[in-house]
This record gives sequence, structure tokens and C-alpha cells, in this order.
Amino acid sequence: DSQPTLTLNDGRVMPQLGLGVWQTPDSLAAPVVGAALEAGYRLVDTAAIYGNEAGVGRGLRSTGITARSLFVTTKLWNDSHGTEAPVAALDHSLSRLGLPAVDLYLIHWPTPARARYVETWRALIALRETGKARSIGVSNFTTPQLAQLIEETGVVPAVNQIELHPRFQQRELRAFHEEHGIVTQSWSPLGQGKLLDHPVLVEIARKHERTAAQIVIRWHLDLGLGVIPKSATPHRIRENIAVFDFRLDEADKARIAGLDDPRGRLGPHPDDFN
Ligand code: NAD
Repeated sequence: DSQPTLTLNDGRVMPQLGLGVWQTPDSLAAPVVGAALEAGYRLVDTAAIYGNEAGVGRGLRSTGITARSLFVTTKLWNDSHGTEAPVAALDHSLSRLGLPAVDLYLIHWPTPARARYVETWRALIALRETGKARSIGVSNFTTPQLAQLIEETGVVPAVNQIELHPRFQQRELRAFHEEHGIVTQSWSPLGQGKLLDHPVLVEIARKHERTAAQIVIRWHLDLGLGVIPKSATPHRIRENIAVFDFRLDEADKARIAGLDDPRGRLGPHPDDFN
């Protein structure tokens, strides 16, 4: 497969584009993941809280594709922060997925009110040593929280998965990631679909004879970001990966850069979410 990849700070390689399955019901997850693998996806992004790890696992086994060429991410939920709880949480995720290990295990939210994310990060470092999590990272961490993890443990997360789309471009956090060798992976990369009728994106799409979703996914790729668009609709799943045969030009990129809005956040602020 000639798909773009990103090399993580632990030397492992991650597909740049993957399928998100938030809000895909467990009963649908198997056919959706099966359709995605057939369309060429090799990365699936789930989480314990999504309630669909079992369906994702069935989908991963539904094609002839060997487990070794797949990249599976799951996430530790907020109620499992601590020293011991992450061990059981990962075991539960693995048994639902039917896998001996995940490729990437993320702390889903820092939940600063619990004040246990450093301890939880130490637990993930230990889980990586067991081999049950091949790479480890975080999600929704802010710059000070990342700096604290690095300072207190000396282990830099491989990935920080954050809300990022043309309306909310996260320039400061991206710069911090770059400085420290953390891969940025964009969640809600299509702005939950709400962005796709923006006239600037529609116009760029028309110019390239692509859809607005393809333009936005290409924008993430051109910025060097990981990207995990969600769809449960087979033709959109195929559409969202048909992005490896064109590139945006400088004028397109400048116009999309202009869509950034400090109030563009769609999800909760990580400091307020517990
Ligand atoms: P998204 O930006 O990927 O948008 C998905 C929605 O866009 C779909 O439900 C559909 O309505 C629409 N869409 C998708 N493809 C389309 C197409 N080709 N044409 C028209 N419309 C299309 O939003 P998301 O699901 O919030 O984010 C993607 C993934 O990121 C999630 O599934 C999940 O895996 C991850 N995520 C992680 C966190 C976190 O806290 N770490 C939070 C939210 C999402």
C-alpha cells in the first residue's frame, strides 16, 4: 500500500489517515470497519467509552488482512485514571477487541479535576513495557499538561489527539508538538461535517473536482497531521480515503488558513471536562 505514514518518536510507523468510529453503534461497527479495510484504511480509532470495541474487533477479523498490517488505537476513559486502574482498563479493551495488544493507547482526557494524569501516564509507560500497548500517547492535553508529563516522567507522548479542523487550527499546540516530537492527530477533522458547505471549501473543491470533505482531509495531510474522519456510510468511507492523488496549492492553503477562528472549538475545553 502506498499510503502516507508518520513515524512516531518511539520509532514505530502509523498510517496518517484512519477511520474514526465515535457514535458508530457496536452493531454497525463490524460492517463499517470491514468496508473501511476493503477501501484501503489500515488505522481504526476507537475508545473504551465508544462502546464499540467488540464490533471493531469483529470488523478487523472480517477480511483477510493480517493483524500485523493494521493499526488499532483505543483510549483509556476518565474513570480509569490512576496507577492500577489502567492495567485492568487495557485488559478489558483488549478482550473486547480480541487482540493481544493495541498499536496505540491514549489517555482520552487529562481530567485535571482528578489530578491523576501524571500517575496515569506512568501506568501507560509500564503498559508499553508489557507489550500490550505498542505505542502510548494522550488526547486533549494542553501545552502545560504535556510539559508536566515530560518534566515529571521524561517520556514524551508519541501522539496528542486533539480537536483540529479549518475552523480551529490549533497553531500553538501544533508548534509545541513539533518542538517536542509529538505527532498531532486531528479529531473532528471535518468539523463534525458542519464545515463542508463553507463557500471557500466548496470553491476549492470545485476547482480540484473533489468534494469539500476530500479538500479538508487533504489539508490535514498536507500539514503533516494524522487524521481520522468518521463515517458509517460506505460511499463516504471510500470518498474520504480517495485523497492520495492530488495536493492543495499555496493559494488553497492560504485561503483555508484564513478560516481559523478562536471561537471555533466544537467540543469541550480540556480543562473543564471531567
Ligand atoms: P468528523 O469531523 O470526522 O465528522 C464526521 C461527520 O461528518 C459524519 O458523522 C458525517 O455526518 C460527516 N461526513 C463524514 N464524511 C463525509 C463526507 N465525505 N461527506 C459529507 N459528510 C461527511 O467528526 P468526529 O466523528 O467527531 O471525529 C472523527 C473521529 O475523531 C471520531 O470518530 C473519533 O474516532 C475521534 N474523536 C476523538 C475525540 C477525543 O476526545 N479524542 C473526540 C471526538 C472525536
